[in-house]
Amino acid sequence: MSRSEVAAVTKFSALTFEQKLDRLAEVAVKIGLGLRAGQELVMTAPIDALPLVRRITEHAYKAGAVLVTNFYSDDPAILARYQYGPDASFDFAPVWLQDGIAAAFKSGAARLAIAGANPALLSGQDPARVSRVNIAVSKASKQAMELITRHEINWTIVACATPEWAKLVFPNEPVDIAVEKLWEAIFVASRIAVDDPVAEWQQHGAKLKQRVDMLNAKRFSALHFKSADGLTDLTVGLADDHLWAGGGTTAGNGIYCQPNIPTEECFTTPHKDRVDGIVRASKPLSHQGSLIENISVRFEAGKIVEATASAGEDVLNRLISTDEGARRLGEVALVPHSSPIAQSGVLFWNTLFDENAASHIALGQAYSTCLIGGEKMDAAQLAALGANSSLIHVDWMIGSGSMDVHGVNPDGTSEPLMRRGEWV
Ligand code: ZN
Ligand code: ZN
Repeated sequence: MSRSEVAAVTKFSALTFEQKLDRLAEVAVKIGLGLRAGQELVMTAPIDALPLVRRITEHAYKAGAVLVTNFYSDDPAILARYQYGPDASFDFAPVWLQDGIAAAFKSGAARLAIAGANPALLSGQDPARVSRVNIAVSKASKQAMELITRHEINWTIVACATPEWAKLVFPNEPVDIAVEKLWEAIFVASRIAVDDPVAEWQQHGAKLKQRVDMLNAKRFSALHFKSADGLTDLTVGLADDHLWAGGGTTAGNGIYCQPNIPTEECFTTPHKDRVDGIVRASKPLSHQGSLIENISVRFEAGKIVEATASAGEDVLNRLISTDEGARRLGEVALVPHSSPIAQSGVLFWNTLFDENAASHIALGQAYSTCLIGGEKMDAAQLAALGANSSLIHVDWMIGSGSMDVHGVNPDGTSEPLMRRGEWV
């Protein structure tokens, strides 16, 4: 960190909490969404995020939004369904609402999601019921999700510290201190703890783009991951015509947006049939209310043939049994160990943050935008290039400060990309 950066951070800490929150809201609207005058905005948030939702709503109207529509989720209401709902409830999802959201996207609305719900909310519930609800929601929201994953619209995700989440991240602190600490960690990770966050994000985006351009020029056929402890020795074949992405993207509606705040990753589409070897997760995975620890998996010809975990193994097995594509990869991503999130040493129990702390892979659905011309292809064309399809997309961390990554060329030769977790 340079002298001027230190000064900038000090200055940031002199702001009131309300001012800091306002900065995050401004970055969410200007950088995350790139919201245009005349657009509608559809926002979803946990009810604890109300102060941030209101700030974002203000900035959205200042940017010229014609209508901001907010939907809230409430943890006790979610739990009431598990406690008192009839069994049929767990195969049910509001199709009418998801259809309406898809219709809003098609008529030009932008989408903002606030992350921050209690990651362990459903950990005590029947995993079969949790899984049924997720499948019902995935099916009902397929149309809306496709518009998002194909980047047809501008969208972003930002985070809000909530008490239950904060207690999980900082278990030894009283709840008010834990929330305060989590907010600070979110501000730093989201790159707004500087003098001029909008300029910071423009620079950060340009750096990510440089890395993406380098990787796209290489045309590797595979990546090889090997950890010093030998627990990971994995070859991830890349899809034919794969495209690397990272940082900002120009959506199908022509608007430039940063889909994740924070974001530190360069990612692409693996080949669904060309993944072989063993891989050990380097961080626990928080999945739909359960924590899965020490995941260890063996791939053969792209498919998981063995999966174990020291905790949450039943959740893992249920997850990879969701459908045919759930045992195969839909994403591979490179993140240097020096990323601010990795350096913070905080385990966030939230993919938005944890996936930006380490190189990772994702089970399930591939991003069609990570293939040349992919956004215009149908399912059969995408599959022919090796892109996976599934109802799920779940990222889990495999990178660490002891991970070496090589890029493998089509002729079988290879070159080092990352050594001990850092770009070569
Ligand atoms: Zn990722
Ligand atoms: Zn992902």
